[in-house]
Amino acid sequence: MRKNLNAEIVAVGTELLLGQIANTNAQWISEKLASIGINVHHHAVVGDNLRRVEEQFRISGNRADVVIVTGGLGPTEDDLTREAFQQITGMEIVEHEPAMKKIEACFQKQKTAMTPNNRKQARVFAGSDVIENNTGMASGMSLSYEGSTWFFLPGVPREMKQMMTDSVLPHLQQLSGQETVIKSTMLRFTGIGESRLEHELQDLIQKQTNPTIAPLAQNTGVAIRLTAKAATDNEAAELFEHTKQGILGRVGDHFYGVDDQTLEEKVLAMLKEANKSVGAAESLTGGMFTDKLIAVPGASETCRGGIVCYDTNVKKNVLGIPEDFIWQYGTVSEECAAAMAENASNLLNADIGISFTGVAGPDSIEGHEAGTVYIALYDKSGKKLTRKFNFSGSRQAIRRRTTVKGYELLFNFIK
Ligand code: ATP
Repeated sequence: MRKNLNAEIVAVGTELLLGQIANTNAQWISEKLASIGINVHHHAVVGDNLRRVEEQFRISGNRADVVIVTGGLGPTEDDLTREAFQQITGMEIVEHEPAMKKIEACFQKQKTAMTPNNRKQARVFAGSDVIENNTGMASGMSLSYEGSTWFFLPGVPREMKQMMTDSVLPHLQQLSGQETVIKSTMLRFTGIGESRLEHELQDLIQKQTNPTIAPLAQNTGVAIRLTAKAATDNEAAELFEHTKQGILGRVGDHFYGVDDQTLEEKVLAMLKEANKSVGAAESLTGGMFTDKLIAVPGASETCRGGIVCYDTNVKKNVLGIPEDFIWQYGTVSEECAAAMAENASNLLNADIGISFTGVAGPDSIEGHEAGTVYIALYDKSGKKLTRKFNFSGSRQAIRRRTTVKGYELLFNFIK
């Protein structure tokens, strides 16, 4: 029998309240809980203040079946999570020997002296189940108290995620009596807007219940999240495959990958397959395009490099765009973009040259408004393409959109 559990996520830390960091832990945990069918009714954030943490714990314990607390388990004075929970429950706190040994070994390995306050990270509630931390020092805990199940996890996102994945989520699936698995996958698209995608798939979205189909707009393109309920992982994978084929039958031209695959990873794989290399001439993007490509492991076989030619003199002296040409057309022009792409290909000995020139803003340049951008592609085989865009947004948004558009054009150019 499946139980409907409601959960609450409590993040402890004054830096969250000061706006120094965002509560990404709650976002991540909520997404994971939703994927296993657990309803999250509240997110709470509370500073490192004993009385207020206690107050929050009372409220959360009274209304939630499951309370997940992150942060405040570290070694310093302001890490008060254990103390606050002890105040309201009277539970004894003890040192967990295996955790203490691990902390000592860690300091020995680093050849640094352990300060006594580090012992605090091995302290757990007597009788609680200790959640092992494979990437850091503070142990997590789970326990039941007055009808609620509590999980205490460190604030460091990497540690929290490992403990959630390995311990908390399986525990919660069992607690909710889940006999089915709930799985999600992302299909990623480029060169198509969210509304066009939704329009093309409208009838599928409306009639499909398992998996459900949800389009999402993202900075790097559009994605569709498929969420399936099934008896097993394999059955969920079959449901995904069937629905994916239906979707790709309509908008497959724009599809580039699943789950965490990025467009630059896909473009790199396509370049490798076509046995082609690429080099860039980047004015307003200032190296963003090349940076993304080099971030992908194995880029060296394919990415020759890039020339950041922000200043007109660099366009002339390094990239070799003739002065009279710049004088005639200007640097923000189709002609200049095309010459930049061709020269990048020649100078960098790359099969394909790509160029970016335009106005990142906020001021206009050469009479062109902020957001006016030209992107050109040149293939040594003679194939060429130059496109003009009018992007909106801040300077950074325009530079980011230009870079993403460059990948989209390159994807279609080599497809
Ligand atoms: P540690 O045991 O490593 O000291 P902790 O359990 O004491 O961890 P905090 O000291 O509260 O956790 O946080 C450690 C770091 O983790 C913070 O500096 C912050 O960068 C990050 N962090 C904490 N809480 C959150 C949160 N809710 N969302 C995102 N990041 C967080």
